[in-house]
Amino acid sequence: MVIPAGAAGNIFLVGLMGSGKTTVGRALAKRLNKRFFDSDHEIEARTGASIPLIFEIEGEASFRQREADMIRDLTAYEGVVLATGGGSILNPQSRDYLKSRGLVIYLRAGVSSILQRTGHDKNRPLLQTADPRGRLEELSVQREPYYQEVADLIIETGRPNVQYLVQNIVTFLENLRENPKGDHLPDADMNPMNQTALTVAEPITLQVELGERSYPITIGQSLLESGKLIADAVGGERAAIVTNTVVGPLYLDGIARALRAAGKRVTEIVLPDGEEEKTWENLQRIYDRLLAEQCDRKTTIIALGGGVVGDMAGFAAATYMRGVPFVQVPTTLLAQVDSSVGGKTGINHPLGKNMIGAFYQPKAVIADTTTLDTLPPRELSAGLAEVIKHGAIIDAPFFDWIESNIGRLMARDPDALAYAIRRSCEIKAEVVRQDEREGGLRAILNFGHTFGHAIESGMGYGQWLHGEAVGCGMVMAADLSQRLGFIDAAARDRVAALVQAAGLPHIAPDLGPERWLELMQVDKKNEGGQIRFILLKPLGAPLITTVPQDALLATLQACTTR
Ligand code: NAD
Ligand code: MG
Repeated sequence: MVIPAGAAGNIFLVGLMGSGKTTVGRALAKRLNKRFFDSDHEIEARTGASIPLIFEIEGEASFRQREADMIRDLTAYEGVVLATGGGSILNPQSRDYLKSRGLVIYLRAGVSSILQRTGHDKNRPLLQTADPRGRLEELSVQREPYYQEVADLIIETGRPNVQYLVQNIVTFLENLRENPKGDHLPDADMNPMNQTALTVAEPITLQVELGERSYPITIGQSLLESGKLIADAVGGERAAIVTNTVVGPLYLDGIARALRAAGKRVTEIVLPDGEEEKTWENLQRIYDRLLAEQCDRKTTIIALGGGVVGDMAGFAAATYMRGVPFVQVPTTLLAQVDSSVGGKTGINHPLGKNMIGAFYQPKAVIADTTTLDTLPPRELSAGLAEVIKHGAIIDAPFFDWIESNIGRLMARDPDALAYAIRRSCEIKAEVVRQDEREGGLRAILNFGHTFGHAIESGMGYGQWLHGEAVGCGMVMAADLSQRLGFIDAAARDRVAALVQAAGLPHIAPDLGPERWLELMQVDKKNEGGQIRFILLKPLGAPLITTVPQDALLATLQACTTR
């Protein structure tokens, strides 16, 4: 049973190195008038040696034993705030002590922000490697389940504002005291399923680094509610919100009201819904309204909706008066993890999808994960396809994480979604930073898309959602990778199983080999007649290559039947 952290109660902070446990712990102890301990400091005091030296002389296993002993001793006190070492939760006995002797708060920080904070800190023995980011990601994946297991409360420490974090914790404790039998009472037996209600998730902001075209992506719950973020993103006095007949009734009023309250003049442009509406005619409607209402070149165009609205409104922003400020408010998972980031905008032409367009970066992206509550299940799955894609081509630990958390993602657990969106945006932003205009590297984001585009157009647009076709296309690309010896059969099966677990089709439609080849040939990413495939070599890393015809035919054969 958890002892509620009253006057005599204990508070234990867990989390990765550099997540702020010591800083937050010290401030919290002061605020609550408790004694503060940091287990690393206590070990150093007890042994008279620094942590790196203990690692060097005795090895990690011995250090872990010292750490477990220290946790046993320090958790036996009353009225303490204890900052634990990042790896202490690996020891099952320590986990038991933490869970049974106080309230456990998990300070969760992303790998990028930890790297920023720890920098070249020589006191972090586990980070003394050539690839600290890779190492941290490994540690994060390995330890996440244990942090979750012990935690009564999870706090995102995206922005390192100690006072804010401390206030969040204090508010939580006050609620606990006032309402000890209510929803907020941590219940050890219910852990960790009970945590959603306990989470005080702070929005996180990532930066897409593109020189003077850099912009922030903010991800979090209920971001549209206050309206402040969006009002701040509109520099001038005027805004034109572009949305559609499905999203408009849900979210337009709130945003328009917030902008007007902030003194902005607002034009509302509501278009018909659907991929088939991503047309010249609807683009023209946007221009018509902007001109009719005499919107000037300082007017900010806001895209409120999924990828269709985002692409169209973005292209309008790129071209209206040779370019006006643009803000993305993506409301589908696909748009939050993919289309709102990177600056590709455009419309479809009767002869091909996305054939007319421009690269045009937004000034800001505001991804409110609460809007995903109203998303139809098929659209949620379609967005997960692009999340899986990011893990498969770039980040093996993230792929592992998606595998372990696919149930939470499908259940729309806000924390799991926020993490998936954030990691996807980080990955996409980095690829875009390196290759904004798809000169080379950015093509890897088309993993699964060569097959997927063939499915989409072969079945007739609208039959399969883009994400569904990409999901199936990834299974096919994994199969081809395995045939060519780039991944083993187990990795191929993991891709197929994850696609299936995300509610996506994993068996391809039987279009016949000639039609398949013909459809893949017209894919606009083909240059010089040869189809270039994005394959896995190994899982977690991309390879762009042409392939022998017989292997391709074998994949088509194998994936269209079961
Ligand atoms: P979409 O915009 O058509 O949205 C899917 C459906 O969900 C629509 O009916 C929409 O009205 C509805 N919807 C949106 N938000 C909702 C919400 N919160 N609650 C309930 N319903 C909601 O499709 P999409 O999957 O978001 O985007 C696909 C489009 O994105 C394609 O046109 C594709 O070409 C484009 N895309 C662009 C990029 C890029 O880099 N620019 C990348 C990937 C995809
Ligand atoms: Mg895509």
